[in-house]
Amino acid sequence: MKRWNGWGREEYNYHFAPSAQAFVERIVGRGQTIPDASLESVLKSVPRSRLPQHALFNHDAESRLRHARGQSFPDWVALRYGTVNTFPDAVAMPTNQDEVDEMVTLASKEHFSIIPYGGGTSVVGHINPEMSDTPTLTVDMGKFNQLLHLDAVSQRATFGAGVRGPDMEDALAAHGYRFGHYPQSHEFSTLGGWIASRSVGTQCYYYGRIEQLFLGGLMHTPQGKLNLPAFSASAAGPDLRHFVMGSEGRMGIISEATVRIAPIPEFEHFYAVFFPDWECGFAALREIVQARLDASMLRLLDKFETETTLQLSGKDKLVNFADKGLRLLKMGDERCMMLFGLTGLEAVARNTLQQIRHITSQHHGFLEKSFIGKMWYDSRFTTPYLRNNLWECGYALDTLETVFPWSQVAAVKDEIEHALFTGLEAENEKLIVFSHLSHMYTDGASLYVTYLFRRTADADETLEHWKKLKKAASEVIVKNGGTISHQHGVGVDHRPYLPLEKGELGMLSMQNFYQTYDPERIMNPGKLYEER
Ligand SMILES: Cc1cc2nc3c(=O)[nH]c(=O)nc-3n(C[C@H](O)[C@H](O)[C@H](O)COP(=O)(O)OP(=O)(O)OC[C@H]3O[C@@H](n4cnc5c(N)ncnc54)[C@H](O)[C@@H]3O)c2cc1C
Repeated sequence: MKRWNGWGREEYNYHFAPSAQAFVERIVGRGQTIPDASLESVLKSVPRSRLPQHALFNHDAESRLRHARGQSFPDWVALRYGTVNTFPDAVAMPTNQDEVDEMVTLASKEHFSIIPYGGGTSVVGHINPEMSDTPTLTVDMGKFNQLLHLDAVSQRATFGAGVRGPDMEDALAAHGYRFGHYPQSHEFSTLGGWIASRSVGTQCYYYGRIEQLFLGGLMHTPQGKLNLPAFSASAAGPDLRHFVMGSEGRMGIISEATVRIAPIPEFEHFYAVFFPDWECGFAALREIVQARLDASMLRLLDKFETETTLQLSGKDKLVNFADKGLRLLKMGDERCMMLFGLTGLEAVARNTLQQIRHITSQHHGFLEKSFIGKMWYDSRFTTPYLRNNLWECGYALDTLETVFPWSQVAAVKDEIEHALFTGLEAENEKLIVFSHLSHMYTDGASLYVTYLFRRTADADETLEHWKKLKKAASEVIVKNGGTISHQHGVGVDHRPYLPLEKGELGMLSMQNFYQTYDPERIMNPGKLYEER
């Protein structure tokens, strides 16, 4: 069962080795163990529903609580300290398109808001009900989880939009195919959520970003159904799919989507390359990307993330062994690790491996083929569970992301990290801050920053610390002309920064566009932009 106040399945616990805890403690100090609010106590705070009885409405307090928050930092604070202050008035789980239409029509008629809900893995407050006099119905699309059609010749498949990552892959694997969209939240996030929040997977160079994967589908809006035919490409005016992608529930509910799929690859392997320092790794990475080599996944970890990844892996013997070996190769405290994946035809992959080896060795890189790439692959969906352990030991963790041109990204990284490192100086609190370049383009790279600090016994104080850090880092991003999100979306946490990016006219045209479909503003109000 999914945890109600943390990440992941209740049955799985990350192995948080004592050495890993000691590593964190050494840098930021001892964390306080602060008891969580119990499920029972939070359930008692769920107010009476303002929605009437209806065959599809579930007014049960636990269901409303389980749909009240996602995975953002403020969401964690609210759930763990028991300060959740808004809940959906009911949760509906429609089973067919007529029921989705019925919910949307009823919302217009009875004046309640609708929040489309996929897996609830949003990290920016996408699915949180607003504090409002208008009741809210959360529409959980979890029953739209079937493979509806597969066109093997065209390598296309149509799915219900509520399908989760693993179920989608299982359904396709039975026919020899893969979707290949692997955000780290893969276990719980859904096709509809990926489309509505423009998500990006780790192996996007081979399989494509969601923009390249999403071909068309069906959206239920308050003004009726919007059918998006699945064209391979079209020059017939603006592409409406681009308004659906990133709509964050404001436009309507996606019930089904047709996507590109790929045959299960004959070859897939992940590797690590160590460099003596960041500059060498950065130069090699840019060369690989700009040479347009066929890696399926690429990532460059800075020295702190390299060190932290090894330390938190809990594999002390392997880490010590690797450390000794790397030091013999003159890779000391400044060393950085690049991870890459090769996917597809074996002959092509082997050729790419040779070319990557050639480039990395020119930048003093050491290729490790056996353990570390595999370790990354095996733990790629379990590392998010570490957030539970850290929280329970008194440490708060959050991430932020953006994208910058190659000419700027390294300097902006330093500036963001500095803003975070010094962000709690007045409180005398230290932070662990580290970054990696997570998705590459020939002209730029996305920057993914993780920061960890101690939480306190007081929910408001912990939240204030986070707000200070988030604001400091976000201001560096926008001041340097970067986007407030490369992959997590806007929701409420990034909303104040969107007008800086889109401009007044841009915001107005976006709002007018969504209001064409939702004139009464019943769809996920308050997300992306505040109501005018
Ligand atoms: C541990 C962790 C790791 C993550 N890693 C990544 C990553 O690698 N890459 C990445 O891009 N993101 C990542 N995320 C963020 C998050 O998983 C994505 O934003 C994801 O796309 C959300 O999908 P979901 O199904 O959970 O959507 P939800 O969180 O349920 O909803 C997100 C938004 O989409 C809307 N929505 C959902 N379903 C529908 C629908 N059927 N119709 C219309 N609107 C809908 C909602 O209203 C909301 O506005 C991560 C999050 C976590 C917690």
